[in-house]
Amino acid sequence: MNQLLQQSDFSKSDLIQLLHAEGDDLKLLYEHAEQTKLNQVGNKVYLRGLLEYSNLCKKNCLYCGIRQNNKTLHRYTMSESEIETAIRYAHEHDYGSIVVQSGERSDKAFIGEIDKILQISSRIGKHQLGITLSCGEQTKETYRRWFDLGATRYLLRIETSNENLYYSIHPRNAKHLFSARLQALSDLQTCGYQTGTGVLIGFPNQSIESLADDLLFMKKINIDMCGMGPYVVSKHTPLEKLAHQITDSATRVELSLKMVALLRILMPTINLAATTAMQTLDKLAREKAIRIGANVLMPNITPTCYREDYSLYQNKPGQKEQPEDSLATLQKMVKNAGCRIAFGKKGNSKHYSFIH
Ligand code: SAH
Ligand code: SF4
Repeated sequence: MNQLLQQSDFSKSDLIQLLHAEGDDLKLLYEHAEQTKLNQVGNKVYLRGLLEYSNLCKKNCLYCGIRQNNKTLHRYTMSESEIETAIRYAHEHDYGSIVVQSGERSDKAFIGEIDKILQISSRIGKHQLGITLSCGEQTKETYRRWFDLGATRYLLRIETSNENLYYSIHPRNAKHLFSARLQALSDLQTCGYQTGTGVLIGFPNQSIESLADDLLFMKKINIDMCGMGPYVVSKHTPLEKLAHQITDSATRVELSLKMVALLRILMPTINLAATTAMQTLDKLAREKAIRIGANVLMPNITPTCYREDYSLYQNKPGQKEQPEDSLATLQKMVKNAGCRIAFGKKGNSKHYSFIH
């Protein structure tokens, strides 16, 4: 194992072996990833206040609780004054940056609403607040427009880099094209965004081999940021019917941690998030993820009244918490992982700065 870890690059078969690591081997993998993180990006953890702007969505991803065909949800869009209050909260608490996330729409009204959020953010943050968008696939013109209005980072998960598997968790139709997802990622990079992607880990029929491919895919397209986490079963979704086929939650969390550790070693200077989905399945998972490679946390700043309705999956944490509670919890957690929160810092991806 030690010899394998000393290599500067991993082949697919190396990655498969590493994803199967257990016991002392796994400990060595985690230690190596922790050391890589400390050497390359240090022990700072950056905060991004997560604003779940709207749960309206035109898509029907088979795993997601806010898919259009889920008629059991109350649909909401935050008002301008609610948005302002939330962004002000993040700014005043020195979060350094925010992520605006929503279901996917591409109509004119939606594009204008995001324009407005970007204008509000720039005004409140006086351009000192990093702004990330996570609003799905858009045209290159829209991406460019939002970039010009101050968004500098974009998160768009490929979900899986295997086309057949992609169509096993998305409807096979014009609204859910794998090729369009790839194109969107390339457009984001062309527009100059710090570009983030990621995958779902442990969904039905996904293999260790395809997760190894996912890691190589992220390296190949040269991403700047990554957010990935376990698949969590979501009620009122088609994939719920295959819930009996997936591994238990502890295994999915362990696999997610291995993915974080390996990506940190493969791409030492990217920003890597410890995701909420990990925390949903294991209260300590984000702390573990930070220790072994993650350097970004996304505390929720969505008004409490909407959190229940932004249920991508079941038992999403923080639905009854106030933002203050989350911040205190996060500080303790980061300290336990041997790191510290870098308050007031945008926390740009070091990987991006190197190549631009
Ligand atoms: N509509 C945008 C952003 C919102 S969804 C988009 O799709 O890009 C954000 C992420 O939530 C998705 O990329 C997906 O990976 C994750 N997600 C959705 N349902 C999930 C589930 N059941 N388990 C774990 N993650 C899920
Ligand atoms: Fe909509 Fe995103 Fe959920 Fe897909 S994953 S249904 S695009 S919110």
